[in-house]
This record gives sequence, structure tokens and C-alpha cells, in this order.
Amino acid sequence: METKQFKAESKKLLDMMIHSIYTHKEIFLRELISNASDAIDKLYFKSLTDDQVGLGKDDFAIWISADREGNRLKISDNGIGMTAEELEAHLGTIAESGSLKFKSENKLEEDNQIIGQFGVGFYSAFMVAKKVTVISKAYGSDKAYQWESEGVDGYTITETNKKSVGTDIILELLPDSEDEDYSGFLDQYKLKSLVKKYSDYIRFPIKMEVTHSRPKEQSEEDKEAGKTPEYEEYLEIETLNSMVPLWKKNKSELKEEDYKHFYTEKFFDYNEPLKYSHVKNEGAANYNALLYIPSKAPYDYYSKEYEKGLQLYSNGVLIMDKCADLLPDYFSFVKGLVDSEDLSLNISREMLQHDRQLKIIAKSIEKTISSELKKMLKNEREKYEEFWKAFGLQMKYGIYSDYGMNKEKLQDLLLFTSSNDNKLVTLDEYVTGMREEQKYIYYATGESIARISQLPQTELVKDNGFEILYLTDNIDEFAVKSIGKYKDKEFKSVSSDDLGLESPEKKEELKAKEEAASGMLDELAKALDGKVTKVVLSQRLKTHPVCLTSEGEISLEMEKVLNSMPTDQKVHAQRILEINPDHEIFGKLNSVKESGDGDKLGKYARLLYDQALLIEGISIENPVEFSNLICELM
Ligand code: ADP
Repeated sequence: METKQFKAESKKLLDMMIHSIYTHKEIFLRELISNASDAIDKLYFKSLTDDQVGLGKDDFAIWISADREGNRLKISDNGIGMTAEELEAHLGTIAESGSLKFKSENKLEEDNQIIGQFGVGFYSAFMVAKKVTVISKAYGSDKAYQWESEGVDGYTITETNKKSVGTDIILELLPDSEDEDYSGFLDQYKLKSLVKKYSDYIRFPIKMEVTHSRPKEQSEEDKEAGKTPEYEEYLEIETLNSMVPLWKKNKSELKEEDYKHFYTEKFFDYNEPLKYSHVKNEGAANYNALLYIPSKAPYDYYSKEYEKGLQLYSNGVLIMDKCADLLPDYFSFVKGLVDSEDLSLNISREMLQHDRQLKIIAKSIEKTISSELKKMLKNEREKYEEFWKAFGLQMKYGIYSDYGMNKEKLQDLLLFTSSNDNKLVTLDEYVTGMREEQKYIYYATGESIARISQLPQTELVKDNGFEILYLTDNIDEFAVKSIGKYKDKEFKSVSSDDLGLESPEKKEELKAKEEAASGMLDELAKALDGKVTKVVLSQRLKTHPVCLTSEGEISLEMEKVLNSMPTDQKVHAQRILEINPDHEIFGKLNSVKESGDGDKLGKYARLLYDQALLIEGISIENPVEFSNLICELM
């Protein structure tokens, strides 16, 4: 008998299979089942027009059987089968493909990823088997053939006997080693779970004889004596797959519970989803999708451990558990799956990351998520606010990241706490509610709503009757700066140097006061020794004595955030100490200055500066000195 050699490319692929890492080996079963299903598909279509086939829809099936003694696993189908020529053509060679070429230039690790995610068809059998035997009888042929191979050394094809049309694939498993438990693939629970995981939605039943046990019938005596019954084993044929995927069913057939149940089962969430959507898309991208918004952020959501992604199916067969390319980061909270006929799990396709079709699907999914969120914001405000509490932070990061590239898409999905009753408002609602004379969208930053609402800097803006957005998350001010302008209105921090609120007369008046007090203000600044760029009289303070503001690009809040990051480079906001000229303290400072007690004025400066820091929520440099100064001056 002649042993034939594999074609060069096949040899390379085989080699890759044999050296693949263990965790990916289990996908061989998915590959063989998919092949069996394709073969049945072909014969099934024939049967629709050809009575000779002699099989009805319900007769088609895939069988799995495990032979523990013989250490063999068999996958059988009653599909179209293969002639000797087809065995030779299909299993002796593999078409030269773009992705295979791509692989050969890359490292083993990447090879493994491809195997894990896509599978490489029939050859994957060699990841777990030392010998593979294929016995096949093609439809319309009266002869059967056997193809046999132990891997890279080649294969043989001989004539054999087989009664019915179809194919048996018999794997003689590799011996178990220290870290690889191949005989585990003969375990019925393992087989069941692999079918559920990868092949649950194959259209034809996948059957297996499963061993169960039950208590033996007991005699009346034994029953009365309370004896524990003996158990006996019995066999039962089970269909392991559920066949029709939920997402392929008609929406009208499905109830809300079906969708919710599916979610909690599939994505291991105790909580029901906040929202779901069943998408059936046709056109540039053909796919079905089930998309879910969880009601709570997973515990690791805002950590590096969290992996975004949707399950990806190619016509009902799982090809990837978390396909990250299907979701932009700012929608990384979405769970669900996509099933497309346009994607193949075949190796002859380009790698997924390079797949044009996948990109089109991802774009379309993003649009769907965005419009679902907008709908929820418009029609189900309470639900949206719940969503916002769980995932809003992520979308604000989305505004800021990628140089603000996605701000247009996201800005209308944002909510901020408003100074009006602390309720949540959109930017559109804010702008719509702006007074005619109002030039800016005002915001204030701080670590909590309670703290911000007491900030002295908010007084003037509030007195003018203007709404203020309260920003409490670290990212907020960065996000707002990325947006820059919303509907032609600029954002303005209540702490910025020019609020655009002061009347010209008031400005003149203040200028005069400042000139008169300039000697004193300079001396205060000098006493603060570089901590502030200047000390000025405030136009924004009403009742409070002092506050700290900043000029330039970096605000105090941004300084806090940036300096808390694990980098060596520290940034500094240019600080300005503002003093309220209408406050008693101003008169006091003037009289100290007149008395010529420079030492005392310096102490006042340090006290006022520390006070301003405390109001801002910034810790002071020297609390002991602060406390001593208070006592001394009391
Ligand atoms: P793919 O299925 O991606 O084309 P495979 O290497 O898995 O690649 O299989 C190669 C070919 O062998 C298939 O396209 C099919 O023609 C044939 N084949 C494999 N398994 C079977 C089977 N169980 N019944 C009939 N033909 C099969």
C-alpha cells in the first residue's frame, strides 16, 4: 500500500496543530461537527429534489461515541460522504490561503490564537489524535473508502465496507501526559459541555448515548427495612444541542422573559439586564445580534481585568467568545452576540482583525447601540439615569480619549448634575434653559455635590440666576475641555479668571480699589513665596473672605487629578488668591499694612491661603503651623 505525502502547506499546518497549546485543543470537536453538519446540509438539499436520497429532514443526525477501552472517539454523520478522489483532494491537501501565508510569517503564539479562534478544519483532529481514520461512502457511489493517517508522515486510502452513505471519523487519542489529559475527551460530561459551548446551534441533532444511573427496584422487605437501594446504569440517547438559536427565531415568537433568561444564563449575571435589543440586519452587513445593557457594572468593570467584547458566531457556530473589535471602548459595557453568515470559520479567510466584513458589522452595531441609548434617554429617563450611574463614567472617558475624536457621537448621551435641584441634565437641556444674556455653560468641580455647592466661587454665577453643572468625577473637566463648545456655547469654570459677568462700572470700581491696595496685595503675594502667581481683589465673592482660582490651561482640579496619576511629571496650576473687598477681612488687612507690621501681614497671608486650600479640598502643607497661627492671632 502506497503512503502518500501531504502537500507542503498541509504539512506546515499539521505541524502547527501538533504543537498547539492545550487550551485550544478542544476546538477539534467543533471543527469535526461543523464539517459533519455541512455534509448533511449538502445531502439534505439534495433530498428536497431527489427522492433517491431516501431520508427525511428528521433522519439526519450527527453521532458522537466514545470508546474508553479503545481510547477512541468517533464522530459520524449521514451526510453527503466523500469519494476516493474527494478524500484525496480534501484531506490530502489544503488550499493555499492568504491567512496561511500570513501565519507562516508570524510567531507560534499568534498561530495559536488563530487556531483557538477560528479553527482550521479537519486537521485540528491531530491536536488530540495520534491516528485519524476516515471511513466514507459518498452519495451515489456503491463503494466506500478509508483514509488513514498518523500525521506528518502521510496518509493511505484503501477500499473498505460501509453500509450507509455518510462519514465516520475515528480518532485514536494521544496518550495522556503530565499536563495533557486527552482521555478527558472521552468523558461524557466533557463532551456534552463542549457541544453546548461550541456547537449548540448546529441545525441537525448531535446525538450521544449517555450513561445514567437509577435506583434498582427493591423488594417490599428491603423497602420496609429501610435499606439503601442499589444503583444500576442504563443508556439513553440524548440530543446534546438545542439547534435553533434564540436570535434566529422570530421576534414575535419571543417574550421578554426569553431574552432575559437567555442573558442571565449566558452571561452569568444575577441581575436582569436593563435593556436588550434583538437586531436582524440585512444589507451591507448581514447579521443577527442580541445586545444587552447590564443593569449594574461588573465588579471589575473599571479595572484592567475587564475584557470587552461580543460573542461571535459564524452561522450558529461559535468562533470567538469575546470579539473586542465589535465594540468601541466607550460602549464596552454592552454584552451580547453577533451571528453572521458573511463570516467564515474557514482558514482560507483572512484573519479576523483584517476582515472588512467584521468592520462593517462593528460600525452597524455601534450605530444600533447609540440609537438605543438615545431612545432610552428620550423615552425612559429613569432607566437611563440608572444606566448613567453604572456606565456614564466610561462614556465620559470616551469623550476625552482618542483626542476627542468621538465627542460628536457621545456628547448628547452625557448627563451632569445641575445646580437646579441637583437633578441630572443633558447639555441640550442646559443650553435650552440658558438665559438670554448668558454667554457660557458654567461648571464647577469638586469631589462631591455637597462640597461644590458650598464653593465660594459659585456665588456670583448663582446670584445671576445661572445654572451650574457640578462635575464630580476626575475625568469630567477633561471631557468638558475636549468638547470645547456645545451648540456654540463655550464651557466656563466658575473658577476661571474671567466669568464674563461683571458690569463695566463694577470693573472700574474694583480696579480703583485694587490700585489703592496694590502695596498690600503685593506684600501678601511676596509672603506666599511663589505659592501663588498673584493676590487680587475678587469680583466673584459675595459673603466668603477668600478663594483660590487659577489662570491658564490647567485648573486646580486638573492639577489634583493629573498629579494623582502614577507618573513622575507633576503639573502646577497657576494659582491666584482672591480676596473679597467687601468683607471685613479686607479692612483688617489694610490696617495691618498701615501699622507697618510686615511680619503679621505675612502670617495673615499664610492663614488666608491655607483657608482657601481647605475650601478647595486640597490638603495644606503644614497643618501644625496653620493651627499655631490661628491660636496666635486669636
Ligand atoms: P473546510 O471544512 O473548512 O473546507 P476542512 O479541512 O475541515 O476544511 O475540510 C476539507 C473538506 O473535506 C471539506 O470542505 C469537505 O469537502 C470535506 N469534508 C470534511 N469532513 C467531511 C465530512 N464529515 N463529510 C463530507 N465531507 C467532509
